[in-house]
Amino acid sequence: MNHITEKIKEIEAKLPAGVKLVAVSKLKPVETLMQAYEGGFRRFGENYVQELAGKFENMPKDIEWHMIGHLQSNKVKYIAPFVSMIHSVDSFKLLVEINKQAAKNDRVIDCLLQVHIAEEDTKTGMSEEELLEIINADQLKSLKNVRILGLMGMSTFTDDLYQVRREFKSLKKIFDDVKSMGKASDNFSMNEISMGMSGDWPLAIEEGSTMVRVGSAIFGSR
Ligand SMILES: *Cc1c(COP(=O)(O)O)cnc(C)c1O
Repeated sequence: MNHITEKIKEIEAKLPAGVKLVAVSKLKPVETLMQAYEGGFRRFGENYVQELAGKFENMPKDIEWHMIGHLQSNKVKYIAPFVSMIHSVDSFKLLVEINKQAAKNDRVIDCLLQVHIAEEDTKTGMSEEELLEIINADQLKSLKNVRILGLMGMSTFTDDLYQVRREFKSLKKIFDDVKSMGKASDNFSMNEISMGMSGDWPLAIEEGSTMVRVGSAIFGSR
């Protein structure tokens, strides 16, 4: 078993049933991702559109590609033909564009709404108010080519694990509040919470994460 696969199996062995690992492979070459692939792994997360499209072109087609980085509306068209899930939906405008490009490709694209939970203000994502605006928008029902499955959040980059835990708790609370609004429909449900990275994924799971996005703990530093 190769080294990358060993790391992945080590993490997967600690994940509760139903929690998925997204291996964040940004800035790593195809050969490195292929080690994970050869070990049977199929779910990768990328941050940059051009890099993601290039890796899709050059790798086997049974891979689940997750877009986790900030996404500009004018670049959605490059990933719409193949992307499995977009974690970083941070505006209604972007959601509408994803729907449009998904329709062109005769697909339905799974999305998560990214919420700003970090106490530092450098991290992207919507405020709770913006989130509620999207959820309550009449137009949402007409977006048949996207399927909102939950929320994504990024914690502050800090050694203070109390703070990180507090931020994860705040995302879980928003998730629970939205869920209890009872708005579930064909293209909207609250099933997934994408939170937790290399330094804090065990904590994120304790706080209710269903998808952890782990990069450097698998592939090494960037
Ligand atoms: C880079 C990145 C990760 C992974 O970070 P690591 O600390 O390397 O595990 C997770 N989520 C997002 C949004 C990222 O940009």
